[in-house]
Amino acid sequence: TPVTLPAATAVARQVLAEVFGYAAFRGQQQAIVEQLIGGGDALVLMPTGGGKSLCYQIPAIVRHRAGQGVAVVVSPLIALMQDQVGALDEVGVEAAFLNSTLTPQQAASVEQGLLSGRLTMLYAAPERLLTPRFLAMLESLHERGQLSLFAIDEAHCVSQWGHDFREEYLGLSALHERFPDVPRIALTATADDHTRADIVERLQLQDAKLFISSFDRPNIRYTIVERDNARTQLLRFLRDEHEGDAGVVYCGSRKKVEETAAWLQDEGIPALPYHAGLDAGVRKRHQDRFLREEGLVMVATIAFGMGIDKPDVRFVAHLDLPKNIEGYYQETGRGGRDGAPADAWMTYGLADVVNQRRMIDESPAGDDFKRVQRGKLDALLALAEAHDCRRVRLLAYFGEDSQPCGNCDNCLHPPVTWDSTDAARKALSCIYRFAQHGREHHGARSFGVAYLIDVLRGKRTEKVEQYGHASLSTFGIGADLSEQQWRAVLRQLVALGHVVTEGEYGTLALTDTARTVLRGDVQLRMRTPAEAPRRSRSRTRG
Ligand code: ADP
Ligand code: ZN
Repeated sequence: TPVTLPAATAVARQVLAEVFGYAAFRGQQQAIVEQLIGGGDALVLMPTGGGKSLCYQIPAIVRHRAGQGVAVVVSPLIALMQDQVGALDEVGVEAAFLNSTLTPQQAASVEQGLLSGRLTMLYAAPERLLTPRFLAMLESLHERGQLSLFAIDEAHCVSQWGHDFREEYLGLSALHERFPDVPRIALTATADDHTRADIVERLQLQDAKLFISSFDRPNIRYTIVERDNARTQLLRFLRDEHEGDAGVVYCGSRKKVEETAAWLQDEGIPALPYHAGLDAGVRKRHQDRFLREEGLVMVATIAFGMGIDKPDVRFVAHLDLPKNIEGYYQETGRGGRDGAPADAWMTYGLADVVNQRRMIDESPAGDDFKRVQRGKLDALLALAEAHDCRRVRLLAYFGEDSQPCGNCDNCLHPPVTWDSTDAARKALSCIYRFAQHGREHHGARSFGVAYLIDVLRGKRTEKVEQYGHASLSTFGIGADLSEQQWRAVLRQLVALGHVVTEGEYGTLALTDTARTVLRGDVQLRMRTPAEAPRRSRSRTRG
């Protein structure tokens, strides 16, 4: 007998209160729960900490009570499965998980519970779920009308565009093909348009109702600083603003994780390293300590974090640029899950832009894939270069309109900006002259950022003399700007894609779009570096 909606709402409320002890649904939870209880499919985009679990746990309980059997929850995260089953156990809901940590006997007992109808919920890793043995058990349940729903957690794992693709997730379309009448709910905390479309297509959720919650995390303060000396900047940030706080420092490589953790320890800050290259035992120990103890700093690669539900993470720092906005949002989202103020802090410099561009260029992926990755990187670079509200841009990326937030660096300290169009044109013409001069005199050579800045600022170095560049019309035309300002201009040009850097030495070359700047078709603005020498001072020094 189908449950009518007012009745479903009443039952769902009752379960919410009696089983979980909560007075009211949050955000779109109620509508989502009703959709599932009514037998429909749902695709749920909700930020971390938004309350996704209840969206399938409550329908699972309601449907189980109505005699509709067991809900199967697909999750890629063993730790998360264990936590959730433990929490459900505490509130008296029969749940179990099947994954590689179980002994054959334990697995057999879970299977028995599944087939007997005792379980309300079963959590399973995707590779488990898709074994012939498990699918046969599902068939048998299905024939008896005892398969109540499928929940697919971390659904973005099905998309190759996302940052966390898992091959096994591709097989999950089999669930819909074999059991088309069983309601499904797919959930994720991160999906831009592209990833969203991919989830719908690969999981065949064309008929699912879409539930998109606001992705705003108002208690997180976003700050992106120009890299000057990353370690000094990090230390100042930690000492001035987060003495004794728990937090995560993300680094781009395992080596940097280890070095940074060791250095922080030397500085008297309790820090632990975490990356996929560490022994599983060490990883687990560090993770447990981070969760249990107070005030630890986890220095980690992105291998750390998914599914780690520590409410009082007070800051997330990035020493290297993430791959894209989804990654940035996901990683920073691990701060402040308790709703109290938290910082998302990042240093960002020319090297990041160069490295990320190079990684995409040199990856063995196909052109389509690279094009998408470049687009995503561009969006992140625009966020990093922005001098208006970071949150407005971040939310806009996820399709949400908003007003300046008052809680990001740019809102709190509106940056002084200057018109960098002229400087950009000088730099571009200097790069152009290098190539031209090279063709006329000594074969086409190109030169890196440091050298370009020497020439722009009119320094007669040995190398300048060697190449005869003091005779260029662009020699010394940029003496009015400091070295730091020039680096910022170059970073902006690379970020905007007007200049590319090539090869091991990062030699500079113009792209087709550089012409639009040279012609004066576009205007550029940049923030005035906070600690930059003022123009007049740099002139007297230079
Ligand atoms: P997500 O999976 O989206 O990151 P969770 O499902 O872990 O979020 O929920 C985050 C926290 O919010 C949990 O502690 C959960 O118990 C709590 N929560 C969820 N829904 C409600 C609600 N309706 N009322 C009160 N607390 C809730
Ligand atoms: Zn803002």
